[in-house]
Amino acid sequence: MKFGGTSVGSAERISQAATLVTAATAQGHQVVVVTSAMSKVTNALIDAAHAAATGEWSASIRQQMLERHRAVAEAVTPDEARRGTAMAEVERRLDRFEKLCVGVSMVHELTPRILDAISGTGEMLAAPLLAAAIAARGALSAPVDATEVIVTTDQFGGAEPLIEQTRAKMAARLRPMLDRGEIPVVTGFVGATADGVLTTLGRGGSDYSASIVGAALDADEIWIWTDVDGVMTANPSEVPEARTLAQISYSEASELAYYGAKVLHYKTILPAFRQRIPVRILNSFNPSHPGTRVSIEGDSSALGVKAVTSIRRVSLIAISGTGMQGIPGIVAKAFDVVAEQQANVLMISQASSENNICFVISSLDAPKVVRALGAALEMELARGHIEEIAEEPVAIIAAIGDRMRGTPGIAATVFGALGTEGINVIAISQGSSERNISLAVADGDAARAVSSLHRAFQLERVR
Ligand code: ADP
Ligand code: ASP
Ligand code: MG
Repeated sequence: MKFGGTSVGSAERISQAATLVTAATAQGHQVVVVTSAMSKVTNALIDAAHAAATGEWSASIRQQMLERHRAVAEAVTPDEARRGTAMAEVERRLDRFEKLCVGVSMVHELTPRILDAISGTGEMLAAPLLAAAIAARGALSAPVDATEVIVTTDQFGGAEPLIEQTRAKMAARLRPMLDRGEIPVVTGFVGATADGVLTTLGRGGSDYSASIVGAALDADEIWIWTDVDGVMTANPSEVPEARTLAQISYSEASELAYYGAKVLHYKTILPAFRQRIPVRILNSFNPSHPGTRVSIEGDSSALGVKAVTSIRRVSLIAISGTGMQGIPGIVAKAFDVVAEQQANVLMISQASSENNICFVISSLDAPKVVRALGAALEMELARGHIEEIAEEPVAIIAAIGDRMRGTPGIAATVFGALGTEGINVIAISQGSSERNISLAVADGDAARAVSSLHRAFQLERVR
């Protein structure tokens, strides 16, 4: 069971999370808990790290964190000894956080490695409190630092788990706890290299932690407790009439997550899929709602488009020129550059005239990629084979569903709806799997594009 930031965002929410955990153990299940940081904590830690890098470190953030977590500890457990143990852990973490920030502010340098050490603190503050709240309900529970059980690569800010080593560590550390009826509360979001250096799995990565833990322990199910009634036909904060999808397949869930549905970190599904472990997405604010079940079958009766998503803060890079035609290697060179810059390509499209190739990447990566493309394609630019390398902020809109394949008329509905709304489509791509159609539109059109597609496919209707 994984609890997201809002699901552990206050003393009340932590108590509710503890109740959900003990309700499951009371039914005879063995539960491993994965917790996020309390809501807004990770952002505050990252802001503090960046401030420290400019020499501005103020100990007030440490104090604020201490007070917020202490107030929770006092509210969730009446037992003074238990509270003392949890708070000792919190203070130890905050001491380390402060030392790191002071160090950063002295050298004015924030490396990805140090940023991970700082931003990963939030989960370590939350885990002792949730464990204390569970223990306050009469169960045995203890916090477990994921650095002890999840072994990762050293890609700071987006580390990948090393499965075999992780499995071995999980078995050694968590099995004995489960065998004695103890409920481990594992910190989400973080792991450590084989040398023990703290890493993070990327923003929103606690979902991924949960599936890594679930897979490593051969769990029967992975439950993601969040603040909405499951995976919905669109982002409910953008499309109020969005509704919950009761059943979706692994491939639909991963397409949805990949194309912007923040409810699941985009890597969450893979470990579960490999072992065919069903994933449930549930609402900790409305636990009686059945939520969404993700499995191999999904809902095979549902045809066509099931959900519409958007990815914001992305940029379209277009390389164009009439002289590109027939010159081999330009595309290869371009994507080599993108790979070298470690930018993730979200969408690609090429005009059949070969006069233009465009792809979409995160806006954060765009300036460095454009610069590197300019350098790598200098000769082609000088010769006039390429006329322009342009960058434009866009949004990607995706329509997703397994059974889009073989359902004719979907593209017509998509373009008809956008046309009626007067929304200009800048680029289009359809995966050969036919599980999604994605398109780039101006960022300002994104919300309207999502709503109009949601209406066009009548996704608000319960089927
Ligand atoms: P947590 O803190 O539990 O990890 P997140 O904020 O990361 O929660 O993800 C849940 C949020 O994802 C929801 O509150 C909702 O605003 C957003 N969201 C975006 N797209 C979808 C979707 N298709 N279905 C459900 N929620 C979505
Ligand atoms: N706390 C981390 C973040 O905000 C991980 C998570 O909540 O999933 O990115
Ligand atoms: Mg999340």
